[in-house]
Amino acid sequence: MKIHEYQAKALLKEYGAPVPEGILCVTPQEAKAAAETICPCVLKAQIHSGARGKAGGVKFARTAEEAASLAERMLGMTLITRQTGPEGRTVRKILVTEAVNVKKEYYLSVAGDSQNAGLMIIGSSEGGTEIEETAKEHPEAIVQIPVSAVEGLKQYEMIETAGRMCIPAHLRKSFYALLSAMVKLYLDKDCSLVEINPLVETEEGTLLCLDAKVNFDDNALFRHPDVTALRDIAEEDEKEYEASRYDLNYVSLDGNIGCLVNGAGLAMATMDIIQKFGGSPSNFLDVGGSATAEKVAAAFRILLSNPSVKAIFINIFGGIMKCDIIAEGVVAAAKETGLPVPLVVRLEGTNVEKGREILRASGMNITAASDMADGAHKAVLLANGGETA
Ligand code: GDP
Ligand code: MN
Repeated sequence: MKIHEYQAKALLKEYGAPVPEGILCVTPQEAKAAAETICPCVLKAQIHSGARGKAGGVKFARTAEEAASLAERMLGMTLITRQTGPEGRTVRKILVTEAVNVKKEYYLSVAGDSQNAGLMIIGSSEGGTEIEETAKEHPEAIVQIPVSAVEGLKQYEMIETAGRMCIPAHLRKSFYALLSAMVKLYLDKDCSLVEINPLVETEEGTLLCLDAKVNFDDNALFRHPDVTALRDIAEEDEKEYEASRYDLNYVSLDGNIGCLVNGAGLAMATMDIIQKFGGSPSNFLDVGGSATAEKVAAAFRILLSNPSVKAIFINIFGGIMKCDIIAEGVVAAAKETGLPVPLVVRLEGTNVEKGREILRASGMNITAASDMADGAHKAVLLANGGETA
């Protein structure tokens, strides 16, 4: 799960990190009022994306009037960044924050390190908007220090990080405090990323987190209601949000064949085999091993809410899950929606005969598949407007 910069900064502040003052605004009037207390200021578009600066989402204002007119233009605009894709994101909120006199920009983050089953501190003395280019062209400018998730951050790891990032002596103490705070936040809240870019030294000689990004591990959200409350549904894919309400593992993709599968491995294999036959999946969907007819029906509705979907391929291997339960869910959902696109079903496993019989008896226009390859092939043909017989 992602949150906005203003939320990430508030969290970091709770942990004692130095963040500039800011006021969240949703109207130009609010931006004007905020800029009257914080002047000069920077207006920052609050969307779930980085690289806003280069896209026009970070603007400097000298007066409250200037802030109001910039906010007027920014609010409601579609911001297209390197990370949003061509459709961009609508700006609904702006953070009005102190304009800081920057002397030097650093990069500092704490991320997961799957190789060592721990954390990784990533730092650079070359922070700012060009960090991706720096990582590519000058990998030696990026410092990586693995940290044990069990033992936590050690003094010598902090010293090594600061040394290799060339943090000047007068900033070391606040740097260590910040790095400890970031690691503590990461572990306390089950984060997947805590990133400060840029972390700056101001002209006045202090350390400040000018930007902040905090991502969370979705699988641990159940134990952090305070974090879940920070969720901004307007920033999320509607179908993915709807799926999460039913506890379905759904990921939107840009193809035209809707997939409904039980088991993550089979779901991955289903997408592969659709591609092998020249098609492209509109989603990844694992309904889980113990799906109910209601859950299957919800999954079906989510697939059909996508106008790009031209055919649906249901690929079920009944183990714990019984084929007749799936068939009932499918028939109920197909009746409810009127089945506007061709449906191919491959059923195998527990109670398969009962399941097939339910599908046959439904009288619905369902194409049966003898196996997975047959099903994928038929789904691709039907999605392209072809015939299967
Ligand atoms: P991002 O582009 O989405 O990562 O947004 P950032 O918050 O990182 O802002 C982009 C860039 O704008 C930063 O790297 C800074 O160089 C610059 N910037 C942002 N706020 C200030 C500020 O208060 N003072 C100065 N001098 N530069 C700023
Ligand atoms: Mn940034």
